[in-house]
Amino acid sequence: MIRILTTCLIVGIIISADNAFTLATNMSKPPDKIKAQHSQDPYPWVEATEQGDLKIIIVGDINIQERENPASAFINVRATLANADLRYANLEGLYGQTKKVAIKGKPEWRHSDPAMIDAITAGGFDVVGMANNVCYGEKEILNTLKMLDKNKILHCGAGPTMTAARRPAIVNRKGVRVGFLQYTARYYEEEQIATEKLAGAARLNHRVPSDMEAIIADVKALRDKVDVLIFSHHLRKSGKTKTEKYQRKAARAVVAAGADFVFGHGGHVNQGIELIGGTPVIHCIGNFAFDWWKMKGRNDGLLLRLIVRDKKIIRLSIVPVSRDEKNNVFLLPLTSKEGARQVKELRKRSPKVSLRIEEQEVVVPLK
Ligand SMILES: [Zn+2]
Repeated sequence: MIRILTTCLIVGIIISADNAFTLATNMSKPPDKIKAQHSQDPYPWVEATEQGDLKIIIVGDINIQERENPASAFINVRATLANADLRYANLEGLYGQTKKVAIKGKPEWRHSDPAMIDAITAGGFDVVGMANNVCYGEKEILNTLKMLDKNKILHCGAGPTMTAARRPAIVNRKGVRVGFLQYTARYYEEEQIATEKLAGAARLNHRVPSDMEAIIADVKALRDKVDVLIFSHHLRKSGKTKTEKYQRKAARAVVAAGADFVFGHGGHVNQGIELIGGTPVIHCIGNFAFDWWKMKGRNDGLLLRLIVRDKKIIRLSIVPVSRDEKNNVFLLPLTSKEGARQVKELRKRSPKVSLRIEEQEVVVPLK
């Protein structure tokens, strides 16, 4: 804050807090060789924004468990998150800790202690998607929905009924209506999927034609209600860097139905990028924050930043992430060894897209 105020005084003009932040960021040019450490917060974005632009940050899986101070999970990225207008994540973990096995077919998984919601609020997340494989247990689903509502965090992808689970989350920010839809292709048993009578997740099973029909109908219905439509799904398989055929097919279908941006999560790895008639698709954005001990060391992930101007996405840039010795997520400068490795892999997995490097960002070319 002192830095921002000082900057304002030096420049001698009255500017908005948001711009002051931007200005302060721009004044400190990143050094040539940046070490992969936590000092990159706020991230040194190439500031391509104008007054009135909407800045959206999207991250992958978030699972916060067994922390004394849940808010510590985002300590290295707090300013970067705060500098956006809207933040979205996949909530990989319900609130409602259990002593026994929480999910049949997923040994040693535990739901998170309800106190862990403090991480999501401290990170300033506005919307979370709940459709994923660990969205399991009616009691925990209903409890999590209640807690999110209480904390004014919007959600999509799960609900007390199928209709509610498929309902989009719509945010109106800076005069732009942004809609989110989320579904899961990975689940352990049918009981996890919402019905008209039972709480559960919204499903994308590529082998069930009515699933894709329902999803397309959801996208089409949302298209007229929002300016920017963001679609994501939790992948069928974990740990695969190769994009499955069904993912490409589903992406094509939802883009044809009107989605403006499509991405995947739940693979715990990064997958490639493609453009479908100019609409960007990132097939998997990997992990963001993941405390469950079995996910230790699986640190790859991508933070996405979308800039919306005149109600259209005009810029999509990517920064790889990792986690430090305390398992706290941080942003990897592209000049760091780990950052460069993730970008190299991303390029290799995206053979048809000319990804551009602009200072410390990977930029996806848009139409
Ligand atoms: Zn998952």
